[in-house]
Amino acid sequence: MAFDYVIVGSGFFGAICAYELKKRGKRVVVLEKRKHIGGNVYTETRDGINVHVYGPHVFHTSDKEVWDWINQFVTFNNYRVQTVAMYEGQAYSLPFSMWTFSKLWPEVTTPEQAKEMIKSQAWVGEPQNLEEQAMQLVGREVYEKFIKGYTEKQWRKSAKELPAAIIKRLPVRFTYDNNYFFDIYQGVPIGGYTQIFDKLLQGIEVKLETDYLQNKDFWDTQGTVIYTGAIDQLFDYEYGVLEYKTVEFDHQHLEVENFQGSAVVNYTQAEIPYTRIVEHKHFEFAKTASTWITYETPVEYTKDKEPMYPVNDATNNAIYARYKEKADAKNILLGGRLAEYKYYDMHQVIRSALNFVNSDRIAL
Ligand code: UDP
Repeated sequence: MAFDYVIVGSGFFGAICAYELKKRGKRVVVLEKRKHIGGNVYTETRDGINVHVYGPHVFHTSDKEVWDWINQFVTFNNYRVQTVAMYEGQAYSLPFSMWTFSKLWPEVTTPEQAKEMIKSQAWVGEPQNLEEQAMQLVGREVYEKFIKGYTEKQWRKSAKELPAAIIKRLPVRFTYDNNYFFDIYQGVPIGGYTQIFDKLLQGIEVKLETDYLQNKDFWDTQGTVIYTGAIDQLFDYEYGVLEYKTVEFDHQHLEVENFQGSAVVNYTQAEIPYTRIVEHKHFEFAKTASTWITYETPVEYTKDKEPMYPVNDATNNAIYARYKEKADAKNILLGGRLAEYKYYDMHQVIRSALNFVNSDRIAL
């Protein structure tokens, strides 16, 4: 065989495998169907601003090994996510913190008062879905103003049909601290994310605009496959189509210096079609005369669109389990958000890729 490993996809999982396996003396090739490397983490410099082409990516982890590993390739700034939630023309602070509660209920200024207020409207019992879980965590009013509309737009289904776990991503704090993440290491790479992938893939054969699935029979003879794409596509939807959610990005260049004063503004009302507007310059405190913004609008996922978010309910997880069993039987190695069908953040993908290359799944 020409290679030890044929790696399908150049996002974090694929690029890390390529880098770490090459370091261990393996012959690797990376197949990437897009025109560029980096998967959805890819950034592009436009008018002096690093644009997060496939949605905002802010790095956060408490895993020191992951943090040290990524810092070999890039220097991070001290950006912290402090999102604005826009509801009926009013700006509130996200994640939910004392700043949000005290604006929503001006008579509430202490943590105890906020907890009392939430308790008086909370859903009680064992939550079976996102709606019940959210109303248990933050009460009916916060749910209706900031969660219901956004969530139902984003996932294109009723919050009653969504798994409770999704909403646990959103922190609730009873402090005047509006930092989104609790992690000890946070930031955005100075100069954007793409340089990380350039370094990871330096000296490695990368075939852009090469769709493995179009020429699968050939590539399968070239080495052991590490696949990071959507798993249902890999098996030609044999056990059914897995549900993914996707969004469309409308990037716009504006001749204004500062459009919205925040990297991310969420629009939480159901009647506004987009979920958020991203203003990229704020991730790196760029001092440019103009700005780049992106409207993110959830759209129906069809096979010709990019899958982005897995919908980890019981039905989809059961379908996934069958695909996974089949991949294992065929000795196809899987990794990353799409192939593992997990709502991973970047640091989790890195952790999983580092574990994988050091596991006995990789032949020494
Ligand atoms: N969410 C919400 N209102 C918001 C932001 C998020 O209800 O203003 C909910 C929504 O259900 C979303 C989930 O929290 O799917 C996770 O949000 P996160 O920002 O982590 O999503 P991502 O950044 O991965 O798109």
